Amino acid sequence: MQNWRSELNRLCLLLAVAAITGYAVGHVSWVMLISLCVYYLYNLYQLRRFNLWLNRDSSESDSEPPVSFGLWGDIFDGIYRLQKQERRANSYLASIIDKAQESSAALEMAFVMINKQGNLDWWNFAAEKLLGLQHPKDRNQSITNLIRNPSFSEYFHSENYDETLKMEAPGESSKILEFQIALFGENERLMIVRDITQLHRLESMRKDFVGNVSHELGTPITVIKGYLEAILDNLDALDEKWHKPMQQMQQQSMRMENIVRDLLMLSSLETKGLTKTQDVIDLNGLFSEIESDTQQMFKDKAHTFELVCPTALSVVGKRSEMYSAISNLVVNAAKYTAAGGHIKLSANKGANSLDITVQDNGIGIESHHIPRLTERFYRIDGSRSSDTGGTGLGLAIVKHILARHEAELETKSIYGQGSCFICRLPLSRVATSPTGQARSEKETEQI
Ligand code: ADP
Repeated sequence: MQNWRSELNRLCLLLAVAAITGYAVGHVSWVMLISLCVYYLYNLYQLRRFNLWLNRDSSESDSEPPVSFGLWGDIFDGIYRLQKQERRANSYLASIIDKAQESSAALEMAFVMINKQGNLDWWNFAAEKLLGLQHPKDRNQSITNLIRNPSFSEYFHSENYDETLKMEAPGESSKILEFQIALFGENERLMIVRDITQLHRLESMRKDFVGNVSHELGTPITVIKGYLEAILDNLDALDEKWHKPMQQMQQQSMRMENIVRDLLMLSSLETKGLTKTQDVIDLNGLFSEIESDTQQMFKDKAHTFELVCPTALSVVGKRSEMYSAISNLVVNAAKYTAAGGHIKLSANKGANSLDITVQDNGIGIESHHIPRLTERFYRIDGSRSSDTGGTGLGLAIVKHILARHEAELETKSIYGQGSCFICRLPLSRVATSPTGQARSEKETEQI
């Protein structure tokens, strides 16, 4: 501002001197015109210096501005200061980008940035190792052209990335990769890929181990149970002090048999997938079968059963598995309800789901146990469950079966008043025609 005023003063002084000189020589307008031209030429010269300095070679980009004074000096200094600030900000940003790139290159996880057209924008070194991407050749290539796998395309276009995708690495079937995508910005995606081959191997070893052990235990348990039954049939021949131990041994061998049976069931649910063609299950028929089997099992308790199901309501799924899931819930309801209880089994088709509900007026469950009920071997009270022959695997099996049918289990309970277990099946599982999707017995057995 100060320099601006001095410049104005300088111009006024120039014009005043020109006017006096012009008056003295008798050519006021000429002298003033010549002075203005000189002033104009001076400014033109400064503009040229300014232009030359601005367009200087990049090698001397940090060279100092030409020496000048007054308003022009101010302009040169101001621009030089701004340039220095910008250079500092740029080098700070560049150092951050370098650090981010160096650290992402050191990671074993692959990071891939994909633009809104689904083309590759940027990726780290691990992405080249895991996915075979080539720099810079693959830049701007469509990701679904580079990873040619139908499950990947389906996952990528689904835009529902709550779950991860596990599949073989492109061109390397021995490697298992886990893909996770996050949306950001304007429909851009960050894809994170992990090599989970080792984890996958351990997981299948675990499943095989559980399956094999359960299978191997089956025969010895059957033999032990057989002998115990024979001994108990001739209990009178035994000294009385052995009566109780023998009965307890039989009880525990039955528990062992139940555990092995449930473990085998879980292991087969984990290792075998559902076939595409499935059964059309008439819910009324299924409910009646479960009711009569459970009543038979708990004759002594004399519970009353209430079945509520719209006529001709059928679902598509594997009948033996749906029987097992619902029956597990109904048997639990009967087990954990005192004699003379009321058990209601109902089906209700709502706006978003088909709900199959098992409700009892039994002992109920304290709320803090509810989130853990479907964990394997989780039992609220060990002694209570062993009294009832429980294994702690029933609800884990229910959860697995429901997940295979894209369904979920919801549990509500009031301690001391009763419990309510709701299986929420998607409406896509409701059969449109009672026979339309039925499949042969042979196909069922293959699963
Ligand atoms: P278990 O074979 O022990 O019954 P589950 O996995 O079927 O194992 O159930 C886990 C635990 O949840 C049971 O031990 C029991 O304490 C509790 N539970 C399940 N169903 C009910 C119910 N209807 N009422 C009260 N408690 C229940």
